[in-house]
Amino acid sequence: MTANLLDFDAEGLTAWFAEQGEKPFRARQVLRWIHRSGVADFADMTDIARSLREKLTAEAVVAPPKVVSDKLSDDGTRKFLIDVGNGNAVETVFIPEDNRGTLCVSTQAGCALDCAFCATGKQGFNRNLTVAEIIGQVWLANKALGAVHGDERAISNVVLMGMGEPLANFENSVIALKLMLDDNAYGLSRRRVTVSTSGLVPVMDRLRDECPVALAVSLHAPNDRLRDELVPINRKYPLKELMAACQRYLDKAPRDFITFEYIMLDGINDSDAHARELLALVKTVYCKFNLIPFNPFPGSPFKRSPAERVRRFADVLMQAGIVTTTRKTRGDDIDAACGQLAGQVKDKTRRVAGRIISLQEARA
Ligand code: SAH
Ligand code: SF4
Repeated sequence: MTANLLDFDAEGLTAWFAEQGEKPFRARQVLRWIHRSGVADFADMTDIARSLREKLTAEAVVAPPKVVSDKLSDDGTRKFLIDVGNGNAVETVFIPEDNRGTLCVSTQAGCALDCAFCATGKQGFNRNLTVAEIIGQVWLANKALGAVHGDERAISNVVLMGMGEPLANFENSVIALKLMLDDNAYGLSRRRVTVSTSGLVPVMDRLRDECPVALAVSLHAPNDRLRDELVPINRKYPLKELMAACQRYLDKAPRDFITFEYIMLDGINDSDAHARELLALVKTVYCKFNLIPFNPFPGSPFKRSPAERVRRFADVLMQAGIVTTTRKTRGDDIDAACGQLAGQVKDKTRRVAGRIISLQEARA
């Protein structure tokens, strides 16, 4: 069977080369061609012996997923819609800021965890993305941003914060993370690669042990009663366990804080009393807060908290000494904002639109 070399990190590629009777340094060379130079055609890998190039052409491919559309927002945010087969697509969003460029990457088509405010969750679970589909988003964006040759790379940070729950696709996400960190691939520091999780407690421990990177936890509620409703995985891993897992994570984390993401839902979780309850909850975890104004979608039962409410909520946290930022809504003119829809789906099989959309609609 033809191998897709985008599915391998350094270890996997070395093993595959060994099966072909090739030396580890050849694997390293090819890894650099693929990821550092963005080359997909073996014929262009000029310092590789012709015989090996021919063998690779016969046995393997470098096949990224297909880009269905590529939109640029007025604020510079760029959204790629990626074909994941069976008429479905996921999104990758590049967010340029003054001193960094962040790529927001998807790890699953759909999501099984069904958070009440999330369009992806409402969609249900389709499937895990392959390693080639996850790292392929970085590969494609790097190329599209013209940032492949030389060190002026536009992508300085990657967040696994797109569609899906990265820790529910752990093996593939970790192989992709290892490529992001590998000096022969994207060479990003562990502090600049962030996994966002809704709180799969046992898998947080695995991530800490196998590939510690910066961690963001989608908290969204200060008590189990409310979190059980908003983030149903809380019924399995309640807040006490989640906070303990955060503490354990910090033992080995590349950053000395956890980022708590907190979606601001009007009249639901956004009062001063909620903020004070949060302070009590997180007092044993060194953390920062990132408040996310809710992005509505058709049929969603929530409203975004007013800006003044978000500011007051942030004040309560900051007065207690917790660094708190409010996420700016970026790229909403091209539907690229956090949690925002990629498009309306009136597909027969899908009742609620999410960040997974039918290609037919995407092309329309
Ligand atoms: N599954 C992971 C990562 C993907 S979701 C997680 O839940 O953390 C990335 C972030 O987008 C999460 O913090 C999630 O809560 C947030 N999000 C989901 N739906 C949203 C919406 N409608 N508006 C704003 N943020 C949303
Ligand atoms: Fe899944 Fe994250 Fe959406 Fe929850 S917020 S349904 S975990 S993608």
